Amino acid sequence: MSYKRVLLKLSGEQLAGQYESGIDPIFGAWLAREIKKAHSDGTEIVIMVGGGNFMRGAQIAGHGIARVTADHMGMLATMINALALTDIFEANGLQTRCLSNIFAEQVAEKFIHRLANKHIDNGRVIIVAGGSGRPYLTTDTAAVEIALELDCEVVLKATKVDGVYDKDPTKHDNAEKIDKISHQEALEQASIQVMDQAALGLALEHKMPILIFDSMSEGNIVSAIKGQKVGTLIG
Ligand code: UDP
Repeated sequence: MSYKRVLLKLSGEQLAGQYESGIDPIFGAWLAREIKKAHSDGTEIVIMVGGGNFMRGAQIAGHGIARVTADHMGMLATMINALALTDIFEANGLQTRCLSNIFAEQVAEKFIHRLANKHIDNGRVIIVAGGSGRPYLTTDTAAVEIALELDCEVVLKATKVDGVYDKDPTKHDNAEKIDKISHQEALEQASIQVMDQAALGLALEHKMPILIFDSMSEGNIVSAIKGQKVGTLIG
């Protein structure tokens, strides 16, 4: 069963691809082709992109940079990624629009609920820039909020790991992957750090399922969007 509409959360770190930071356009083109396969099968796709390949507010605040300013910088980092991905997607034949939650009229359209729906109804992928537009939040939390606002059935959180484990797999050889876990359990288990607590709390309150999956393997993005068995489902 394919989903009708999904929110795909891409972290900034992934967009760096073979590099330590910045954007790897080769990886971006690969991503575009994977997403195009799923989109041409009929699923509507909303993308929330992170900014961690450039900066994260919590890490750069201090030494004179206020937390709010640091978060503004983080949100601008997500804008850089969103602009790059929009062009790369279109260059690969995927009609895409960038909608921003920060005021940036010269570079992107505003995120307006009805406009977002109109673009999706017209067959376009939308990429949301600027997270939620407010500091003290992450793009994970913004992803859950936008998924709720746009009636997405699931948040697909693309990561470098293939799901949630009962113990840290880098430290324990006998760690086992969990196929499904409730929001409440994910919130209570301190060892599970795949998503921040604010994002999990919002998802719990509104019963929004979240799939944690490894997007780097060929075919996994399509499988996740088709509702096939990959990763760990929180919900
Ligand atoms: N950010 C914010 N509000 C939001 C979303 C993001 O202030 O709604 C800032 C925050 O500083 C965050 C940074 O933008 O650290 C980049 O986003 P995130 O850390 O979620 O990126 P990712 O880890 O997914 O690459």
